Amino acid sequence: MLLNVDVAIRRLHGLVHAVGEREEVDLADARGRIVAETIPAPVDLPPFDASAMDGYAVDGAGLDGGGRKTWRVVDASLAGHPAKTSVSAGTAIRVFTGAVMPRGADAVVLQEDVTGDDHTVTSDAPVKPLQHVRRRGHDVRSGEPLCTAGTRLNTYHLSWLAACGVARILVNRRVRVAVFSTGDELAEPGAPLGAGQIYDSNRFSVSMLLREKAATVIDFGRLPDDRGAIRGALCDASEAADVVVTSGGVSVGEADYVKDVVAEIGHVDFWRIALKPGKPLAVGRIRDALFFGLPGNPVSTIVTYLLFVAPAVDALGGTVPEPPLTFRARMAEGVRHSVGRREYMRGVVRRTDDGLVVSITGDQGSNRLATFANANALVVIDEATGDLVAGDWVDVLLLAADAGHPVPAH
Ligand code: AMP
Ligand code: MG
Repeated sequence: MLLNVDVAIRRLHGLVHAVGEREEVDLADARGRIVAETIPAPVDLPPFDASAMDGYAVDGAGLDGGGRKTWRVVDASLAGHPAKTSVSAGTAIRVFTGAVMPRGADAVVLQEDVTGDDHTVTSDAPVKPLQHVRRRGHDVRSGEPLCTAGTRLNTYHLSWLAACGVARILVNRRVRVAVFSTGDELAEPGAPLGAGQIYDSNRFSVSMLLREKAATVIDFGRLPDDRGAIRGALCDASEAADVVVTSGGVSVGEADYVKDVVAEIGHVDFWRIALKPGKPLAVGRIRDALFFGLPGNPVSTIVTYLLFVAPAVDALGGTVPEPPLTFRARMAEGVRHSVGRREYMRGVVRRTDDGLVVSITGDQGSNRLATFANANALVVIDEATGDLVAGDWVDVLLLAADAGHPVPAH
């Protein structure tokens, strides 16, 4: 009996506990890290009333009718160089964008609305109090939260924190993930291929995908199809890591020892999912570490990583896993799909005059990494749906351009 994908994901969440430890990092090292404690704004932003435009700072009280007004220009306020003089009725101070509003001034008359010279300016335009003024604290007030605990910091958060002068951030420690591949047939990219060998891509795929996470990869290399070697390595990995990820050896073949070894030294919580590709996924624990035995076929490895490992690593790191951005598109062509397993096909989605259309990247064999190479989306065909014809609506998950990782919804 195969386990439904949603049920499996729910069971997995029951097994995950945030790691809980924290550390302080520099702003420049904080991208992708998860905030441990709500960060309050240390200052008002802007820190002072500032001019939003180049012009003349005046006292706007009583000037909002039209009519000609003339001011004597008594000083200048430049960004970083506040004026020393105050404004009074009948005087103005030259101001530039971002300069401190001089004392006594509450409005800026635009330079394009005045005539005159360096000493005297005249304007016919109405002047309203606070026009073209950025009020102190308008963006954020000191003490207000900038980022809450559990936020995964992206570039925009970091810009925001920089603008507020935050230099050090308390974040959750990285999740330690031990990554293995298994199989006597595997060779390291770069080495010549021996008889019957193929290159190990899974360890590389998983390690690269984990770079998008607040995780540290511990590379445990390639394991032979040998029960003793697998047992020893998994024990060591469970000591060193919060999560142990293997690929291959979880099927029912002669040399598929991984699941049996985990059952012996730990616990397999579930195995075999109603999923295509990725049926022989095994999830469990080895001592205190969470265990994922990903299937060996390279496409299955990536799909099960995205669906199971990625959200679990997020949750361990102390953030709520964000569901990928899902939208609907029409199939460009028909595809065959047998009822019973949820299928994630690799596709290319594009915008046409008829809306979003998705085409499948050729033969969807789970060994064919070529199906991922030019894909920008996963097409989801649920377990109850049969064959599809061109024009049928499907759910599509967007893959991020660089990482091949579903784009989270915001
Ligand atoms: P297994 O479940 O170990 O029988 O693996 C299933 C298929 O995936 C086999 O064809 C393996 O050769 C292949 N495979 C297993 N591990 C890897 C890997 N790390 N990189 C590429 N292919 C792999
Ligand atoms: Mg194998």
